[in-house]
Amino acid sequence: MAIERTLAIIKPDAVGRGLTGEILSRIHAAKFHIIVIKTRRLTKKEAEGFYAVHRERPFFEELTAFMSTSKAVVMVLEAENAIAKWRDIMGATDPAKAAPGTIRKELGASIQYNCTHGSDAADTAAFEIGYFFSGSELV
Ligand code: GDP
Repeated sequence: MAIERTLAIIKPDAVGRGLTGEILSRIHAAKFHIIVIKTRRLTKKEAEGFYAVHRERPFFEELTAFMSTSKAVVMVLEAENAIAKWRDIMGATDPAKAAPGTIRKELGASIQYNCTHGSDAADTAAFEIGYFFSGSELV
């Protein structure tokens, strides 16, 4: 398996509910290497650019408003098979359908307020990492 990098976000709902430490603990327990991390309140425009692939979806407006309401924690995780590994730890998008033990099952409140983001493929990981971090932050 290849060493990969993925973009992870602790979304504003989870930061606001005081879940940052709990989620970072799970990241450490899973032995990800955190390459870079920052807290950031996205602007509405940044959230729209980040989720541009969803622009035609009915929840786009609500999602981008939510993602720009308050601070998020944005980070790059590295591990073997990091993209699929982080998505497994997050669980399915809808907490009601997520597997037991996953972040979204245990901590998520709804399909929108589902605590975390993770890139879903190598090309989206490259786009999403570059969206928030410059090359010198990624060495
Ligand atoms: P993910 O890759 O598992 O995060 O899921 P998607 O890429 O399909 O959706 C992006 C984000 O949009 C999700 O993590 C949710 O926060 C939100 N979302 C997805 N589906 C819905 C929906 O049906 N309604 C609402 N309100 N939000 C949704």
